Amino acid sequence: MHWNLNNLNERVSDNKFVNDTICFFAHEVAHLYQNSRIGDIYGESDESWLHEGHADWLAASALQELYPDTREYVANKIDRYRNHCAKGLRQFPLVEAADKGRFDLYYSCGLLIHQAIDLALQKHAKKDIYSLWVDFRKQAETGDTKGSKVFLAHTEKWTSKALVNRINEVIESKLSSPENTLNQLATSK
Ligand SMILES: [Zn+2]
Repeated sequence: MHWNLNNLNERVSDNKFVNDTICFFAHEVAHLYQNSRIGDIYGESDESWLHEGHADWLAASALQELYPDTREYVANKIDRYRNHCAKGLRQFPLVEAADKGRFDLYYSCGLLIHQAIDLALQKHAKKDIYSLWVDFRKQAETGDTKGSKVFLAHTEKWTSKALVNRINEVIESKLSSPENTLNQLATSK
């Protein structure tokens, strides 16, 4: 992480710049949390919602936890992501985003997927978004399977089949009403 700025003194008085910067750092730190001793456990690039969305959701959670003043900033970001993701999913399924050069959708749709998982986990109260990742990592390290299918199998174990079906819809389908699907995703238990 490196900046070439000659006006940093001015930029630090801009809240958006400060929040964007903290968010960026938190996202990269989340990738350190995701790390595994066997290297990449995320699967193929068309499954990048798994690690990029996860990192963005952990960053959003960290900001709200550590800097309560950023709640509005985070809420606005999530609203923006919802619109961005919905627009993309009307054109093609998330799994095709890599081929279409639309990697940005893995961040926006991915954050919404992990937010939904986290909220469902909190309702079931047995795991959280961190311990779920630890389970996933353990299996990837001890078995020979990795990637989003393994992650979603763990998710289903600690949440519900209904939620995972909804996630698969977001990943694999071109949606006629993505706003509805994303709303249903957010309220699945
Ligand atoms: Zn990243």
